[in-house]
Amino acid sequence: MAVSKKVVLRFPRRMVERPIIYRLAKDYDLEFNILKASITPEQEGLLVLELKGNQAEYDRGIEFLLKAGVQIQSLSQDITRNEERCTQCGACVTVCPTGAFKLDPKTQLVIFNNEKCIGCGLCIPACPPHAMEVHF
Ligand code: SF4
Ligand code: SF4
Repeated sequence: MAVSKKVVLRFPRRMVERPIIYRLAKDYDLEFNILKASITPEQEGLLVLELKGNQAEYDRGIEFLLKAGVQIQSLSQDITRNEERCTQCGACVTVCPTGAFKLDPKTQLVIFNNEKCIGCGLCIPACPPHAMEVHF
């Protein structure tokens, strides 16, 4: 069975140079699309990936990542915006890897499309008035 999933990988900076994503493609035949890659202020490597491939290979690839010391973040979190707190500053627009925030050119309001959200949590520290909330 074929799968297509979005995952957030976090790993220590010492691993940033290791070709873990290359191994996913080569050893597990997974197609990948890097939605976001950065080093966090805590010096962690952070990757938001879309992975496609055979379910069994996907499971083996995830196991490989976990054994290599990579943290795989659950994407089942429910992220909401507290509309009363949002100041429409737009800081979240460039941070979100999936384009869940859009600036409406007519109203100049930042629209949040919850359906595009994969729950990576990147917008939470990026929002100055703490309008983005995570529910577990
Ligand atoms: S958690 Fe925030 S940054 Fe991540 S996908 Fe959802 S809206 Fe975008
Ligand atoms: S960063 Fe926060 S306050 Fe600014 S537009 Fe986005 S949700 Fe609203």
